[in-house]
Amino acid sequence: MARLFGTDGVRGVINENLNAEMALKLGMAICTTFGEGSRFLVGRDVRLGGDILIKAVVSGLESGGCTPYLCGYAPTPAVQYAIRSTQLFDGGIVVTASHNPPMYNGIKVIDSDGIEVPREKEREIEKVFFEERFSRVPWFKGDLSERMFAEVLDIYVKGIIEQVDKNKIREKHLTVVFDGANSVGSLVIPRVIRLLGGKPISLNAHLDPYFPGREPEPTPETLALAAQLVKASSADFGVGVDGDADRAIFIDDRGNVYWGDRTAVVLAPFLKERNPELPPVVYTGVSSSSFIEDLLREHGIKVVWLKVGSVDISRELVDKGGLLGFEENGGIMYPPHQPVRDAAMGTALMMQLIAEKSVKLSEEYSRFPRTYVIKTKYPLTRDLAVNVVERVKQEFSSFRTIPIDGVKVIFDDGWLLVRPSGTEPVLRVMIEMLNEKRAKEIKAKIESTIHSIRGVVG
Ligand code: MG
Repeated sequence: MARLFGTDGVRGVINENLNAEMALKLGMAICTTFGEGSRFLVGRDVRLGGDILIKAVVSGLESGGCTPYLCGYAPTPAVQYAIRSTQLFDGGIVVTASHNPPMYNGIKVIDSDGIEVPREKEREIEKVFFEERFSRVPWFKGDLSERMFAEVLDIYVKGIIEQVDKNKIREKHLTVVFDGANSVGSLVIPRVIRLLGGKPISLNAHLDPYFPGREPEPTPETLALAAQLVKASSADFGVGVDGDADRAIFIDDRGNVYWGDRTAVVLAPFLKERNPELPPVVYTGVSSSSFIEDLLREHGIKVVWLKVGSVDISRELVDKGGLLGFEENGGIMYPPHQPVRDAAMGTALMMQLIAEKSVKLSEEYSRFPRTYVIKTKYPLTRDLAVNVVERVKQEFSSFRTIPIDGVKVIFDDGWLLVRPSGTEPVLRVMIEMLNEKRAKEIKAKIESTIHSIRGVVG
């Protein structure tokens, strides 16, 4: 069957491979799947084309007898939290392309528990979409007017503040640099910092669908200016978010930018002390560094490896219980608040940690060893990529391997991940070693395997 959903919702370039007709049919398919009478909270990020998609999706929902409640510009986690905490809605829709470049837009579908719908429900929606089995309400049951639900941001900010000790944090008067990617994170994160007695220094914090400040994906490269600003302003730390503010990448007081797996090593031991009732377990995708296992074991915290993709992490966190879910790309899920990625919650927790432990973030992050990292990809059909994975499993069979999403190989001095991409015909390779020479040797070995498999095919 043809596919509509990628790793995280439906994505495309407006009026190229994502258009109003698709959004209309998707709205109809979503309503048919959830059932007539379902209520949906509908939000969006700053992207151009958001209007086209929202109007079409809303029309599709109404045509099936579902009721949309519009909340306007909002981070994805704000929509998710409002659904979870008010229990007024059966689901939600966020029109966003998250971290993708400006010409993209997309549609995320949220379930009644505030988590992105599970894979099986995506399949159901896709089936209705492609078979055009839409339910439609008779004329006398149709919706009469648009409904608004404007309280989303207030509910969300209040929920975050309730999770931390605001008086303790306020005493410290923390200075926090915030890089908003010109999108919806800017509507809440400076406010959270301010409510916690901090001074936000904001960068790229006006809404602008052209993303003039930087690409919407937070990385050490795109946050270079924010990192300079942390140093220049002697801030306590910095945080950069993506286009829908579910991902947060942190910058320490010296201007060093860290991926999310490093942040988990800083946050998880603190959260264990803070929440002794929670199981001392964290959940993450196989693309996170294997160095976290030893670093967290020292604190009695176990790492559970999962497939790459935030939905699987959220669902596992809910089913099995734990302290934290996280992704190397900056997703932080704190279950006492909500088990989905949430940049504003991550920022408040970081303020709590600094206030409570009276530490500098550069000291906290220095627990992670200095390593040499290679992240690369090779164009390869899915079948050939799977062959490479099988061959790598054999070649490294004397080491510990985790074969749940491609294959991860764990050495004493580092690790390797070889994984077919879920969204494009490429093989992704990640290598992290204590020593640069070793990392390059492993890369060369993988490349020779790729060449030999390409050679077999001709
Ligand atoms: Mg995102």
